[in-house]
Amino acid sequence: MNLPDSVRICEVGLRDGLQNEKDKDGNALVLKTEDKVEILKSLADAGYKVIEAGSFMHPKRVPQMADTDEVMKQIAGKIPDDVELRVLIPNLKGVQRALDCGAKKVKLNVSASRMHNLKNLNRTPEESVAGFEDCVKFANEHKIEISGSISMPFASPWEGRTPVEDVDAIIEAYLKLGINEISLSDASGMAVPNQVFDLCEHVRAKYPQATWWLHFHNTRGVAMANILAAMQAGMTQFDSSFGGLGGCPFVPGAAGNISSEDVIHMLDECGIRTGIDVVKVMAISRKIKDLVGHNLESYVLRAGRSKDLIGTQG
Ligand code: ZN
Repeated sequence: MNLPDSVRICEVGLRDGLQNEKDKDGNALVLKTEDKVEILKSLADAGYKVIEAGSFMHPKRVPQMADTDEVMKQIAGKIPDDVELRVLIPNLKGVQRALDCGAKKVKLNVSASRMHNLKNLNRTPEESVAGFEDCVKFANEHKIEISGSISMPFASPWEGRTPVEDVDAIIEAYLKLGINEISLSDASGMAVPNQVFDLCEHVRAKYPQATWWLHFHNTRGVAMANILAAMQAGMTQFDSSFGGLGGCPFVPGAAGNISSEDVIHMLDECGIRTGIDVVKVMAISRKIKDLVGHNLESYVLRAGRSKDLIGTQG
C-alpha cells in the first residue's frame, strides 16, 4: 500500500472541541484559562508541533473561546519555539487580536456551500475570500502567518456533493491573496473515501504551490477511512481532536473530529511516524474527560493500545 513514512498531526481539540462544549443546563461550558494553558503544555510535551490553540470569534457567540488572547499570553515562553500555535479568526479584528497577544499564525475559514454563504453572508464563497484581503495585508505587515480553511469542500447539508469547480474557485481566491496553506475541512462529516481520494489527487496536481491540511469529522464513522484515502493520494497533514471532542454549530448531529489517540495509534501500528507519544495523548484525553464531565468518542481510550494487549491473554 502506498503510504507516507511520516505525517504531521495538528491537535484542534482546544478550539474545535471545546468551542462546542455545554454544561448540563445547555449553557456554554467554559474551561479555566489555567487549565487550557496546562493542556497546551502537555500537548507540546507529548510531541505535537502544530496546535490550534483557540479562536478570536466574538466572545458572545463563542464564550468558550473568549480567553484565547489570555491563553496565548500565558503560554508564551513555556513551550518550545518550534511548536506552531494557530488561532482561527473571522476577520481583520482577529488579526489585530493576534498581534496584541503575540499569536504568530492565524487561520481564516469559508464555507464551500454557495447556498450557505449566500443565505448567511449574502455573498459567494469566492467573494468572502476576496474580502479577506485586509486581513492578509495586516498579517503580512506584522509578520503573522496566515492560512485558509474551506469547510464542506466534499459535501454540505445544503447542497449535497460540492462541485469540484466550486472548490477550485475558492482555492484560487486564496492563492490570489497569497495564502498557500489550505485546509479542507469536512465539518459536516459527509465525505467518503473515494471522493476524498479524487479531490486530494485533483488539488495536489492542479495547485502544486499549495500545502494541504485535511480535517475530518467522524460524524458517520468514516473519518479514519478518509484519512487513509487522503494519505494514498499523497496528503500528509491532518487535524484531529483529543478524545474525538467537538461538533459543528451549523450541522445537526455533527460529531467531533476524529480522535487524536485513535489516529496516532493507527499510524503507529502502520509504522508511520508522527513524533507524538500516544500514551501521553491518552492521558491528556482522560484529563479532558474529567474537565468536560462526559464520555468521549475514542476507541483507543476504551480499549487501550493493541501493543499493551499482547501477552496479557492466558
Ligand atoms: Zn471541525
